[in-house]
Amino acid sequence: MKTLPPETCAAYLGILAGIKQHHRLYDVHVHPYEVLFDRFTYQDSASAPGVLSLDGKGYSTPSIYHFRFPELTDLGNDSKSIRLQDISVMLLKKVYSFVGEKVFSDQMELGGIDKVLLLPVASESSSATQFENRLRWVTEYYSDQRRFAIAGSVPGSVPTDGLRDYILSQQVRFNIKAIKCHPVVTGIDLSRMARKQWLAELVRACGQCRLPLIIHSGRNNPYWGGKRTNCAALENLKRINFSCSGTPVIIAHAGFHRCTMSDILTEGLPLLKNMLSTHDNLFVDISGLTFEPLKVVIEHLPANRILFGSDALYAPQWESVILTLHALRVKGRRIEDDFIKYASINPRSLIFEEKTNVQYAADQIPSVP
Ligand SMILES: [Zn+2]
Repeated sequence: MKTLPPETCAAYLGILAGIKQHHRLYDVHVHPYEVLFDRFTYQDSASAPGVLSLDGKGYSTPSIYHFRFPELTDLGNDSKSIRLQDISVMLLKKVYSFVGEKVFSDQMELGGIDKVLLLPVASESSSATQFENRLRWVTEYYSDQRRFAIAGSVPGSVPTDGLRDYILSQQVRFNIKAIKCHPVVTGIDLSRMARKQWLAELVRACGQCRLPLIIHSGRNNPYWGGKRTNCAALENLKRINFSCSGTPVIIAHAGFHRCTMSDILTEGLPLLKNMLSTHDNLFVDISGLTFEPLKVVIEHLPANRILFGSDALYAPQWESVILTLHALRVKGRRIEDDFIKYASINPRSLIFEEKTNVQYAADQIPSVP
């Protein structure tokens, strides 16, 4: 297993401190609660303001430790999937035992990040109203708009012809800055033609609402018994006309989530390059990538199409920052120049910069569903 000692981590964070003197840094991929299973209920922690706790234990601020590189592990096969879900939930209880403004602000302090885009995700069973309650919860507990921007998400039950009004409704009431679509978690099988049409309409609707769209993409997610495993694979996205939206579409994990290196080199990368050259408004985020895929993205894709994302708290945010800086160094890149593009220039212009408000005619504002 590859590791980096604390001194090397501290040296990278030193480079970051230099960058931060002149640049605000952003992370476009952070989950404000455990989104994969969404089974946790948090309580206000009496010990620390801004902390919500799962099990009532005391919260302590995170710190830098000996960094072990994340590696892709084989999590099992179909027959074990229910058990795997239970094991995963147990493990995720540790990772997501605390949430709230202070928990994420502490992460950001350590990783040198100034502002994050929070990505709640509509679960498969959630109705429009249930997801709206989730969104209300996120807005309430992450109210500091200097540090937190919030994305919306769309339950699979919203029909194709209702997408625009649904998004508009979230935009008007929750001031969302993007839409996150996670086909695997939400149970949207993009290998089906009807769902491809649904996604094409989602792209168009985001364009009409002038909101960036972030789409999870990758393969081999084992938690749901394999049946949803490739719902969001790049090959299901390749014929979508992303250019029909005038706003950015960001493929999360560069489309390589849980892909093997041979998948990436033989299929994923050529497909992705082709899609990027076809659609000027298409970008990738580098969240959740292990070291080898991350180096491939850095080497083969232009820096002005890449956005920094950490996938916190599934990965500690500071680890993702350091992994990215280290990959840039190993690839012989000018670390500062590229990281400033990934984490400052690109996210600011594509997502965080305040745009002139979209004006709605009175009859355009959708009624509460
Ligand atoms: Zn994620």
